[in-house]
Amino acid sequence: MTPILPGATLGVLGGGQLGRMFVHAAQRMGYFTAVLDPDPASPAGSVSHHHIQTDYLDPEGLARLARASAAITTEFENVPAMALATLAAQRPVAPGEQAVAIAQDRAREKAHFTKCGVACAPYAVIESEADLGGVAASLLPGILKTSRLGYDGKGQVRVTTRDGLARAWNDLRRVACVLEKMLPLAAECSVIVARGRDGQLVQLPLQLNLHRDGILAVTKVFPGNVAEPLAREAAAAASSIAHGLEYVGVLCVEFFMLADGSLVVNEIAPRPHNSGHYSMDACDLSQFDLQVRALAALPLVAPRQHSPAVMLNLLGELWSGSDATREPPWAQVLALPGTHLHLYGKVSARPGRKMGHLTVTGATAQQARTTALKAAALLGIEAF
Ligand code: ATP
Ligand code: MG
Repeated sequence: MTPILPGATLGVLGGGQLGRMFVHAAQRMGYFTAVLDPDPASPAGSVSHHHIQTDYLDPEGLARLARASAAITTEFENVPAMALATLAAQRPVAPGEQAVAIAQDRAREKAHFTKCGVACAPYAVIESEADLGGVAASLLPGILKTSRLGYDGKGQVRVTTRDGLARAWNDLRRVACVLEKMLPLAAECSVIVARGRDGQLVQLPLQLNLHRDGILAVTKVFPGNVAEPLAREAAAAASSIAHGLEYVGVLCVEFFMLADGSLVVNEIAPRPHNSGHYSMDACDLSQFDLQVRALAALPLVAPRQHSPAVMLNLLGELWSGSDATREPPWAQVLALPGTHLHLYGKVSARPGRKMGHLTVTGATAQQARTTALKAAALLGIEAF
């Protein structure tokens, strides 16, 4: 494919914060942008040149997006595969419908990991009463996860007994699920790769992630954040998962690091990822720059991290506290050296809602961490 050069319009399906940061990266390079999202106040729609406000499956909306755009990407995982297929008939679309469909379905995703020779948590697919009865006792205690439409820990129930498992499956309305064995996690990490149409692949450095209540809270990225052999193993696994999907675009692969030092893959996200946001301030190319390049068939150059970084997610609860109208103390936070504030332009703050993030860079990992702890204390984020 010949490169789509600046001056053209790039489209994105979905108008959340990931779309907003894609739009910013594309516009900085001189592209025009078009966003399809039904919400008139969507974070990406409100900063894009064009905002098509229809449902994701609206034929007229999709036709308008295709007409406006030279190529189209997506920013959220649960985008209907049909919408991608419709667009792909008219314009280059990356990532492709097949890869997104696999990432949307935990059972298919795990089958893909196995095919690529990458270990995941022991699991069983539960689609019927018979599957439920056939679950091996070794999978308990476990986590029952809906195969589709989960995010930020939603659609998941922890179960310890067979009775509990049956009740949980009922509570999830007996939709297709996977039961995963509960693993003793020492830590979690992720790798972001960008792969071009020509199969060229580049990666960001490995991210060390701390989750709280099933939501990413803190990401730390600096040399040595994870022992080198493990980081190499994760990088190799992410690369074979992306190649195996013939993936085009930015892909995040999330891993569990187990107490015994082994690594298992958790899941993939077919888009830039919250754990890669630090790359905007700490690397010479961000995950969104890579998304633009991959979509436009421009060269992918290996990104270089120039500063150790700690990223703090800014969730809706920071706006409430004891006083419901409280605005976080931005001026005090921004007085700390190396703080980079990103707010997504969301109108209302609800607990657990991703409102923004703060990246803290420093000359050393220790410096970034010390400043990030000060920022966390000011914001009311628990220390890490
Ligand atoms: P997101 O897409 O926002 O990352 P999700 O809703 O898809 O989240 P998972 O990534 O499957 O959910 O799980 C959320 C978190 O729950 C994990 O990051 C991990 O902390 C914990 N968790 C999930 N599966 C297991 C497991 N098998 N053993 C131990 N902990 C787990
Ligand atoms: Mg996850």
